[in-house]
Amino acid sequence: MKVKAAAKINLLLDVLGRLPDGYHALSMIMQSVSCYDLVEVDRTDGDNIIILTDDEAVPTGDRNIAYKAAEQFFKETGITKNRGITVKIEKHIPMAAGLAGGSADAAAVIFALDRLYETNLSLPEKCGIGEKIGADVPFSLTGGTAYCSDKGGVIAPLPPLKDCFVVLCKPGQDVSTVSAYKQLDEAEYIRHADSVSMIYAVKNADYELMCKKACNVFEQVIEVPQRPYIKAVMKKHKADIALMSGSGPTVYGVFKIKEDAEKCAQELMESYSQVVLCEPCEKSVEII
Ligand code: ATP
Repeated sequence: MKVKAAAKINLLLDVLGRLPDGYHALSMIMQSVSCYDLVEVDRTDGDNIIILTDDEAVPTGDRNIAYKAAEQFFKETGITKNRGITVKIEKHIPMAAGLAGGSADAAAVIFALDRLYETNLSLPEKCGIGEKIGADVPFSLTGGTAYCSDKGGVIAPLPPLKDCFVVLCKPGQDVSTVSAYKQLDEAEYIRHADSVSMIYAVKNADYELMCKKACNVFEQVIEVPQRPYIKAVMKKHKADIALMSGSGPTVYGVFKIKEDAEKCAQELMESYSQVVLCEPCEKSVEII
């Protein structure tokens, strides 16, 4: 079974503090975008979970998040026999980029295993498995446009973002999500986002207000030397938003006019190898 799994961008990302269990309390508006990994999941004889990828930078074996997702799926569904599967990941989503590429692969595995093993899990049940794997996995199973809070697993769908184009640009620097949260924890002062206005704006399709209030608090602590330049190129080509996604370093631009987005992507490609022109999309995991 072949599944395409979408990347996400954060139109809003704030960390409000700590929950009683020690996890970070998040306030995020996530948007799926049409940049996809292709994940093929097939059953095999025996009980081994085998992960194959076309990108040698992606870890294999139990260090791959797709492996952890499969293990968690089998654990929670009580499947103990005939657990043999192969997962082939064709990587297109830039890695360690703030685009939830690994989470997308994990979501694709949970989605595919539910079909292959005919477990008929509800979306909340799948998200419950996903949340144990990573904060972005529940959204990667849900997709579209959504407000995600708590640890990322409390998801309120929002109306789809329409009629715009997105350019992703990852500068040649990896950001570890764990160290990004550590830097945020150690920061003396954080200017929090205006989540209420952002939710209002997306809910009421108020594009202008959304562009004004889009915010990612990680920009205050994660240094990406290339970010001002990438944002300047995006603004030059009339981007209405130019913001970092997740804990970075990817910067995305949102454009109303396709030609502007195309010209922006072309110019960025002269300096960066990981530039993707895409669009908001409503499905994050889909059988192809
Ligand atoms: P997020 O936005 O959810 O924080 P990210 O986009 O910043 O995630 P990922 O691309 O998910 O980051 O990868 C983070 C790290 O996870 C990588 O450096 C890699 O070592 C590890 N990893 C494990 N499994 C995968 C996978 N299937 N795809 C990509 N990275 C993976």
